[in-house]
Amino acid sequence: MKRQKILVVEDEPDILEVLEYNLSREGYRVLTARDGEVGLKQARSELPDALVLDLMLPGMDGLEICRRLRADEVTRALPILMVTAKGEEADVVVGLGLGADDYIPKPFSPRELIARLRAVLRRAQAAPSRNGDGDRLEFSGLVIDRARHEVVVRGEPVTFTPTELRLLHFLAAHPGRVLTRDQLLSRAIGEHAVVLDRNVDVHVRSIRKKLGEERERLETVRGVGYRFRDDRE
Ligand code: CA
Repeated sequence: MKRQKILVVEDEPDILEVLEYNLSREGYRVLTARDGEVGLKQARSELPDALVLDLMLPGMDGLEICRRLRADEVTRALPILMVTAKGEEADVVVGLGLGADDYIPKPFSPRELIARLRAVLRRAQAAPSRNGDGDRLEFSGLVIDRARHEVVVRGEPVTFTPTELRLLHFLAAHPGRVLTRDQLLSRAIGEHAVVLDRNVDVHVRSIRKKLGEERERLETVRGVGYRFRDDRE
């Protein structure tokens, strides 16, 4: 797997050093900046997988960096973990409003920060695909086109209900990931639908039937949920 690139923007040398050491040890590629403006430039040019961002910085503060990254199409979805000092709670609220994904107050242990960072990265990966519009997903033997409401199995168009299509598309957009019934319910079926937990199973059963020879792509993960298999991996 490709090493994930993390940019740490922090002006306190001791903290920066500790973070750099610990993140590298965890297998991340670490970039650093001690100044807000430099950090922003680096975030734009390097496009890291995530940003660990101190709130109070020389040059430009973390809030402004956050705001600018979110306003820019290219960096809009960059996961941001904000680091704050004591007494900056009000700024935290503003920061989260500006789009920071999470925050961690100082002092923190490296372990804590890494756990938070992992969670932020995980959530970012679970977000819908950012490659193109992501509406059309193609696999060998299977095409799922949400915009055109079309599923083609081994060259044959198959009729799916809107719910089935949303479910299948959501699963296929995250190949290899186990999605729980809750996740499938809220993100694929929608929060407004009144459905029982087990309804997901009913839909999946129907989807499998329609997938025919491609049915094996939908795996049941016992006690958890479902996983879409992408054979290319
Ligand atoms: Ca600082």
